[in-house]
Parts: sequence; C-alpha cells; structure tokens
Amino acid sequence: MDFRLAEPQQMLRRAVREFAEAEIRPFVLEWDERQHFPTELIPKLAAMGLMGVQIPDEYGGAGMSAVDYCVAIEELARVCPGVALSVQAHNGLCAAHINKFGTPAQKARFLPPLAAGRQIGAWGLTEASSGSDAGSMRTSASRNPDGWLLNGAKVFTTHGRVGDVYVIMAVTDPSVGKKGVSAFIVEKGTPGLRSGKKENKLGMRASDTSEVILEDCLVPHDQLLGTEGSGFIEAMQVLDAGRIGIAALSVGLAQGAYEASLTYAIQRHSFGRPIASFQAIQWKLADNATHIDAARLLTYRAASGQDAGETVTIASAMAKLFASEIAVRVAEDCVQIHGGYGFVKDYPAEKYFRDVKLLTIGEGTSEVQRMVIARHLVRSAMQQDTAAAI
Ligand SMILES: Cc1cc2nc3c(=O)[nH]c(=O)nc-3n(C[C@H](O)[C@H](O)[C@H](O)COP(=O)(O)OP(=O)(O)OC[C@H]3O[C@@H](n4cnc5c(N)ncnc54)[C@H](O)[C@@H]3O)c2cc1C
Repeated sequence: MDFRLAEPQQMLRRAVREFAEAEIRPFVLEWDERQHFPTELIPKLAAMGLMGVQIPDEYGGAGMSAVDYCVAIEELARVCPGVALSVQAHNGLCAAHINKFGTPAQKARFLPPLAAGRQIGAWGLTEASSGSDAGSMRTSASRNPDGWLLNGAKVFTTHGRVGDVYVIMAVTDPSVGKKGVSAFIVEKGTPGLRSGKKENKLGMRASDTSEVILEDCLVPHDQLLGTEGSGFIEAMQVLDAGRIGIAALSVGLAQGAYEASLTYAIQRHSFGRPIASFQAIQWKLADNATHIDAARLLTYRAASGQDAGETVTIASAMAKLFASEIAVRVAEDCVQIHGGYGFVKDYPAEKYFRDVKLLTIGEGTSEVQRMVIARHLVRSAMQQDTAAAI
C-alpha cells in the first residue's frame, strides 16, 4: 500500500494548479456575479486534456486514470468550484456514460468532439417531481419507424443551455418501472429539443444549470445508448463513478477554503496577536486539515478501486458523503475565521460557503448516500447470518 501520488500525478497536480491560478482565479468573482458560463475557457481546458480526462486516447482523450481525474478536479475546485462542477458533469456524467455504454460507432462519433472541447456534454436524469427517486421519472420515449419520440422535461441539468450533446434517460416501457428506462444521445439542434429556465443559483454560478424540454423530439434508433430497459441501472453505474468526482470536488473546495483560512489567520491581528495564535482558531485549522486528509484518502481509495475495475458503489458513496459534509464544515469555518470579512465579497470565504452546499445535494444527497451505504451493510450482515445458519 502506497499513500503517495506517483511522480506523473504530482506533475499533473502542479500543471492544473498553475493553469487554474493563471486562467481561472482572476475571473472567479466576475463569472460568479454575472452567472457567466466561461465558454472562452473551454479550448484552454481541452488543451490541458481536461475535457476528455478519462476518454481513451483512440477517441482523442487524455486516457487518464480515475485517480488522475480526482487530482485534476481537486485543483480546479480549489480555485473555482463552479468550473470544476462543469468539468465533472461533462467528463464524469455525459462522456463517461457514452464511453462506458456506447457502441464503437457511438464512441467514434460522439467522444472526439467532447474530448476536444468542440462540444459540451450534458446528462439529464432529474425531473421536477423525481430527484432522489429518479426511477419514477416521467419523460417518455416511444418507438416509431423513424426512431424514438421523446417527450418530457428534465430539470437542474448542468449545461442544459450550453450543451451540444445530451444523454437523456427516458421511460421506454412504463409497465416495468425502473426496468423500463433507457438512455438516449440527443444532439443540440434536434427538432423538439430546447432549453427552458436557467436557474438563478445560490452558488456554483459559473456552471450553467437549466431545464431541458423535449417535445416530440425524434431521436434516431442508433442513438439509443446502452441496452434498452437497462438505462436506470446503467445511469446508477455512471453515478457510482461520478460521485468520486464530486468527492474530489469537495476535497478541492475544502482545500481552497482551508488555505484561505490559514492565510487570513496569520495576517489578521486581534488583541495584539495574530488570530492564528488563539487556540480556538488553531483547533479549527487542525480539524480542517485532518478532515481534508481523511476525505482525500477515502476519495483516492474509491478512485483506485475504479481503476482496478472493482464495484465502487459503497466506496464512492462513503467518499462522497464524507468529503461533501466535511467540505461544508470547512467552508463554514472559513467564514467564521474571517469574521465580518467572511461575509463580504472582498475575500473568497463567502463564495466557498455558497458553492459548497451543492455538494451534499448533487449526484445524490447525503441522505441517499447513507441509504446506499446502510442497505449494503444490512444486506451483507443478513447474508452472513443466513450463511452461518446453513
Ligand atoms: C446545481 C445543480 C446541478 C445539477 N446537475 C444535474 C445534472 O447535470 N443532471 C441531473 O440529472 N441532475 C442534476 N442535478 C439534480 C440533483 O442531482 C438533484 O437535485 C438531487 O439528486 C436531489 O433531488 P431533488 O432536488 O429532487 O430532491 P428530493 O429528492 O426531492 O429530496 C428532497 C430532500 O428529501 C430527502 N429525501 C428524499 N428521499 C428520501 C428518502 N427516501 N429518505 C430520506 N431522505 C430523502 C433528500 O435527501 C433531500 O434532503 C443538479 C442539481 C443542482 C442543484
């Protein structure tokens, strides 16, 4: 067991950190204020390999590992969690779904433009009345001679307005519940596909989040993604890996907030001393650093499992649950350590505090992660019990 990153991974961290400091840091507040999705950044992200991080070389991607992916997402989130969220949704949801379940022809057609950043990916599972209970979605797809006719609406879709390629989950057989869900690749410009309301968000404001509306949207037969009727279970498998990305995003956000806290605590004087000399502040910093380290280790453990081809449902749920919840605490401590200056936009604390809350909600809430973990614990305990009785 080796807890250190390999030299190429350390180089990747340095490269993405330098990139984020130079190309993103100067604009973070402006993009947040204007809710501006930085399309101008996409070619630069692509040049760094960050639009096709885990897409194989043969499709123009960087072919990196899940651990590499975590390192890259962490470094983006340390500077701008909103940009990191967009990179995660593009790579970890849309591209990952096509890469994992697409036919060779679908991969050859859709992955190269995504990896090159010529197209932006979106992934639509959530609907107005089905988020945690995604299996009760209503968007339907009915087969006709020319293809599949999609009708319905997705909400909270990252890149709902700016996306070029959408992976959409829809019900193809309502008689069998979740077993009647299938996934489709829908291209921008397809008649009947349009974006709806752009959400005005608390945080992650540089990431585009919108409704996606499908009205008699005809999708060719060869754009059914994965196996008909297996779309729900396949989407859950995509989320298993996607949650590792959200865990990495949480670690990176927490790292950025912690560094801001430490810098401020050393500079800010109170009662004639730096506030970093007070035990109350030191204990916060010590807890923050310890929790971030623990979250990072859980995240890399899940990512290593994914790289080894293991089922990572539990490892990714644990990493996402722990990392997102400690990130909320670290971001809150960051505001507290900054005092009144934590409440205003002159310092980065308030933005970390606003951005962080999404992480305990998106790609499965904390409650859902606990359900996933607990179900597994109880099921294996019952199986062991039955085995012992036999
Ligand atoms: C900025 C942003 C970006 C997003 N991007 C995407 C995207 O790209 N694609 C996509 O498909 N979705 C996306 N989402 C949607 C996100 O995944 C959902 O919001 C999330 O899964 C929660 O669903 P919900 O909002 O419907 O909440 P609900 O499911 O209605 O949950 C409300 C509350 O009830 C709790 N709850 C629900 N069921 C249970 C239960 N059985 N036991 C205990 N507690 C329960 C939840 O934990 C939560 O606290 C995004 C959301 C946001 C805010």
